[in-house]
Amino acid sequence: MRTASVGRHPPATKDHRRTDLRLQTEYFGPSDPPLERQEPGAKNQRRVAQDDPVLASCYFPPVLIVLAAVYGLATGSFLNVIIYRVPAGRSVVRPRSACPHCGSQITAMDNIPLLSWILLRGRCRRCHAPISIRYPVVELATAGLFAATTAILGVDPMLPAHLWFVALTFVLAIVDLDTKRLPNRILYPGTVVALVLLIGGTVFEGNWHDLGRGALGGLAYFTGLYALAVVARGGFGFGDVKLAFLLGLFVTRVSWGALGVAVVGAFFLGGMVGVALLATRRAGRKTAIPFGPAMVLAAWLAIAIGQRVVEWYLGF
Ligand SMILES: [Zn+2]
Repeated sequence: MRTASVGRHPPATKDHRRTDLRLQTEYFGPSDPPLERQEPGAKNQRRVAQDDPVLASCYFPPVLIVLAAVYGLATGSFLNVIIYRVPAGRSVVRPRSACPHCGSQITAMDNIPLLSWILLRGRCRRCHAPISIRYPVVELATAGLFAATTAILGVDPMLPAHLWFVALTFVLAIVDLDTKRLPNRILYPGTVVALVLLIGGTVFEGNWHDLGRGALGGLAYFTGLYALAVVARGGFGFGDVKLAFLLGLFVTRVSWGALGVAVVGAFFLGGMVGVALLATRRAGRKTAIPFGPAMVLAAWLAIAIGQRVVEWYLGF
């Protein structure tokens, strides 16, 4: 009777990631699970998985990834405005963007992400002053981040939160590189919106346990870095400590192991950058090295592959 009642219910969509994971294990696994544990539809999906192992982990339309990339280009264009204006204390809404050289307003036609820069060959239409290659690079990078996030998550209630997360942390990393500061004007509202989107996604997904673990992980990363900042007296700014809560929140939603990867990775990457700067004499022993970008990059990697790194490590 129990098997029959299980058989009548289609698998819940909120479980599709776990289903996907199970499909992969089934495909690569040594033996099939007992028949009664298979859910309806699993047979068809498994056939797809057997025909094409890539499809097993990529069952949503690739057009979604293309859309995410286009959305990323447009978002990157706005991120450029934030990166350029917020550290200078200017409004991100007004006035319209203008050429910093001749002051002429940039028309909507010349403000198309990536395309305009290419068509204008990186120069202002009126005064031909060069426009930094950073603008199209940030737009392209945001497109790549959005595409990767969508490829990893698929259609998921958590997708808005994660798109917000990568955009927010990307901006913070670049502003930190530029100014060696993590402005509260970006960090505070950004973290609040991230929390709201996470809670919204959890309402749909129903997995409050993951969110609880994420919150604990955020507090743990925050507290640990705060203690280190007090002991080390200056190695880290308080901005890094506040950033640690945001990163820990998203990373630990994956697992505690992923948080371990994020923390170890941040110190590893930060150390490598420090050594490289010292070696090329671009920094003295007392130069503050922005730790934020290393934390952000390590957190992205931890969310994407952290759990696999932990399993690989424990497998030894
Ligand atoms: Zn100009």
